[in-house]
Amino acid sequence: MMMSRSLFSDHSDAPPSPPAEAAASELSGPHWVARFPTSQRLEDLIEPFRTNVGRFIAALQAAGASVRISATYRPPERAYLMHYAKKLADGRLRAAEVPPMAGVPIEWVHATEAASRQAAAAMVRAYGIVYAPALRSRHTEGRAIDMTIDHAIGKTVETGDGSAVRVASLRVLHRVGASYGVIKLLSDPPHWSDDGH
Ligand SMILES: [Zn+2]
Repeated sequence: MMMSRSLFSDHSDAPPSPPAEAAASELSGPHWVARFPTSQRLEDLIEPFRTNVGRFIAALQAAGASVRISATYRPPERAYLMHYAKKLADGRLRAAEVPPMAGVPIEWVHATEAASRQAAAAMVRAYGIVYAPALRSRHTEGRAIDMTIDHAIGKTVETGDGSAVRVASLRVLHRVGASYGVIKLLSDPPHWSDDGH
C-alpha cells in the first residue's frame, strides 16, 4: 500500500530515497481526466484520412457552412483510463484486477473496494462517459473525427470529384462526406471516420 509505505519512511531515520520515476503511482480520481487529452487537431489524424477530412471541411466552409471540431485523435492512454474507470464504477471488475498500462502510473486500488469504486465513478462523471468506451476505436487509431456542422443545408458544396451538389438534406451531406472518404456513423451524430465505424 502506498500510504503505509510513505508513513513508514516519514518515521524512519533512513535518508529519503530518490523518487522512483516510473514506479511512483498516483491514486485514481477525477484529476486524471485532464491528462492525455483528446486532440481537436486535424494534424493528429493519420493519412489519408487527415487530408481527406481537411478537404471535406474546406469545401463545407467554402460553401458557407460552419464546422466545429470537438475530437480527433484520442490517446490510447485516455481510452484505457475511460474504459477501466467505467468498468470499475459499474462493479464489473475489482480494482486489483485492472491490468496496468505502460506510461499510465495510476493506482486503481484505494483503501477499500468501495473507495476504489467511488474514485472510478468520479472519473466517469468527469469524463462525461455514457456508454462503456472501447480500448481501441477509430479515434485511438487517428481515423475518426467528431464535428458539428451547421448551416450546410441549402448550400451548394463541391464534392470530392469536383462536381457541385446542393445539400438538400443530411443524407446528401453524408454523401458529400463519402465522396471525400469521410464516412458518417449514423448512430453517433458528431462522428465520422474513414470507414463509418
Ligand atoms: Zn467519435
